[in-house]
Amino acid sequence: MNKLESLNPATDEVVATYDVATDEQVFAAVDRAQETAEWWRGIGYDGRKQRLLAWRRYLAAHSDELIDLMHRENGKPKPDATLELLLALEHTAWSAKHAGKVLKPEKRRPGMLFANFSARTEHVPYGVVGVIGPWNYPVYTPNGSIATALAAGNTVVYKPSEHTPAIGQWYADAYALANPSDPDGVLTVVQGYGATGAALCRSGVQKLAFTGSAATGKKVMAACAENLVPVVMELGGKDAAIVAADADLAKAAELVAWGAASNGGQTCAGVERVYVEEEVRDEFLGLLTKEFANVKPGSGPGASYGPMTMPSQLEVVRKHVEDAIGSGGQPVLGGLSSVGDRYVEPVVLVDVPEDSLAIQEETFGPTVTVTTVRDLDEAVRLSNAVNFGLGASVFSKRRGPEIAERLDTGMVSVNSVLGFAGMGALPFGGRADSGFGRIHGPEGLREFTRPRSVAVQRFALPGLNLTSFNRSKTIDRLLPRMLRLLHKR
Ligand code: NAD
Repeated sequence: MNKLESLNPATDEVVATYDVATDEQVFAAVDRAQETAEWWRGIGYDGRKQRLLAWRRYLAAHSDELIDLMHRENGKPKPDATLELLLALEHTAWSAKHAGKVLKPEKRRPGMLFANFSARTEHVPYGVVGVIGPWNYPVYTPNGSIATALAAGNTVVYKPSEHTPAIGQWYADAYALANPSDPDGVLTVVQGYGATGAALCRSGVQKLAFTGSAATGKKVMAACAENLVPVVMELGGKDAAIVAADADLAKAAELVAWGAASNGGQTCAGVERVYVEEEVRDEFLGLLTKEFANVKPGSGPGASYGPMTMPSQLEVVRKHVEDAIGSGGQPVLGGLSSVGDRYVEPVVLVDVPEDSLAIQEETFGPTVTVTTVRDLDEAVRLSNAVNFGLGASVFSKRRGPEIAERLDTGMVSVNSVLGFAGMGALPFGGRADSGFGRIHGPEGLREFTRPRSVAVQRFALPGLNLTSFNRSKTIDRLLPRMLRLLHKR
């Protein structure tokens, strides 16, 4: 396939067509980014800050155009596209403004044996970072890697998802339009399918940031392993929400409904499972189904969320609902008939066995399971009993932070959903099948640099140099004594 066509998921109209980049074109883009990397690094934190903030201003000033494109190519309602862009720009601004401070060299103590030295660590950008992105948040998600990597001093070659190529192109072209005197190669897009992503892994990039499914993540790691290219893996999720008996149940229901169904449930850190204490189960379920009463998919102005962006996802959602019902789960809202040929209506399932697909695998649709638990210990145990560990949320007036601490995930929100995703200073990422490494915040900036240790001898100590053949015999005799003195206690 040497052409790439993206379709409007609400109408199947063609939104954009691109030539698929050949391997040679991918390698050439990375070579160009490599040449520009030295210049990019040389302009320093202030130079990069100015440029990233100019890009952010451009994106804000031309947001109507981008939001319209996001609506047409991804299918999400325009207000959701606006929120997505707003959050992305928060992260760009944070990284641009804080990179200098976060990544400045740090003094370290040289220790007694090297007391005549000074020591420091520096954070060195990798050079060129390859970024491979998904389609569900086609601006926010890749931006988490791209803006962070750029702010840390790397140039970037980006392959957007084949489902949202035009959004990726528009977003990256905006950088060049906002910074017309920059050389080519600060941020370059290569268009294509999986094979183009695989070529990017083998292109000579010095780091690869991947966001997508765990299955593809493993292929990306295998391709990167050929050249020992380090990777960041931002993968799928199966996030749980725990609703304690002392929670504000109305608030919990309102936020769980949004966490489960916004963006059609196509959110890596969306709520897919709820564990509710038995004494408040019925009340919570009543409130939750009520919350969904006015939640409707569509493509018009009043729609709560859009169509499924990737048609093949409909089959996954159908399979999970079918499996849940077939294994004894009960739909209390919607059911199999909620899965249409473009849109999926919200589905709430109760009493779904813990080993079924709807509990163990990422559904990525507007469905949620609600499981009754005896107490919060059981809620914690079941929340942790899946192989994903991206985010989670806890609703409790008194025990929120204590329960949050016991959840085996990269991120937790207390009395909210997805709160962690919008804060510039907080890192984003997971564990296990949800991946590893971090984007956003100080940890994200450090992720896109490697530490370099620098030891500077401030003055010589004749005969005392430990790393010389001219070390004195007296020192050699003293070494065993020092060894015991320092370490035998
Ligand atoms: P996907 O894994 O199908 O594709 C992701 C990207 O990988 C696409 O650009 C695709 O072209 C590329 N790709 C496919 N095969 C490849 C290969 N062999 N080598 C290199 N690249 C290849 O995922 P998707 O369907 O686009 O996105 C949905 C998934 O992304 C969900 O699992 C979701 O949870 C996850 N996601 C995670 C985060 C996060 O930050 N943790 C954010 C958004 C989405």
